[in-house]
Amino acid sequence: MTDGKIFRIYLSAGHGYYYNTTWNQWMTQRRSYWGLVEDFWNVLVARELFVLLDEDPRFNVFMNRDFFNEEIGISGHQKWMEASHLFFKEIGAPEYVWNNGIGVQQAINADALGARYHQTDIALSIHANSGGGEARGHEVWHHTHSTLGSSLAYKLKESLESMPNSDRGVKADYYHDQFAFWKATQGQIMSLVEYFFFDNEIDNELMKLQKNISLCAQLTYQGVVDFIETYGRTMTWVS
Ligand SMILES: [Zn+2]
Repeated sequence: MTDGKIFRIYLSAGHGYYYNTTWNQWMTQRRSYWGLVEDFWNVLVARELFVLLDEDPRFNVFMNRDFFNEEIGISGHQKWMEASHLFFKEIGAPEYVWNNGIGVQQAINADALGARYHQTDIALSIHANSGGGEARGHEVWHHTHSTLGSSLAYKLKESLESMPNSDRGVKADYYHDQFAFWKATQGQIMSLVEYFFFDNEIDNELMKLQKNISLCAQLTYQGVVDFIETYGRTMTWVS
């Protein structure tokens, strides 16, 4: 039971094209492994998860990138491939969101500050992992200082049991590589999910299957639903 509450969810697909001032060119934040780039793969999962959440009247969903826009953007690539700062600038968000830092830091800060700008109840960050090629599996992160954030992470972990790779558990951290994200969402109910290791050949093959992209979205949606059905009444509403 959620008492008719509508939950505001920030759905973040990690990374995207940004302008690299050292190389003087637009670059993705992660490099290609066997033809797969995490920056784009995250959006494939986020698109399906967006639809599932958006069709559920209990949720109001906000994007960090223009998931469905195939027009060519300022980077010379389709807008869904671009990073958060370009999207937030385009939708008229205040400058503190999209004009904070330079290069990749500007992109990462905008991704993080978007959660604050949209004043969401829950933030979800979609990622794939890397670890030197040997590691495989999925893991769910939450902020050390959020009890409900931890509860969300455990609900997601339970739901992700049927992933085709191993469960690496729930992790709490402050100094993850998406540090800005953790800083901006401190104390908030947020989870970052690393579904696969893109630099592991077996996980990488699994990531490329459409059925697994859909599975990531469906299991995550189910985890979020389980979370609000269990803890929704105890949340302090933003809206
Ligand atoms: Zn990532």
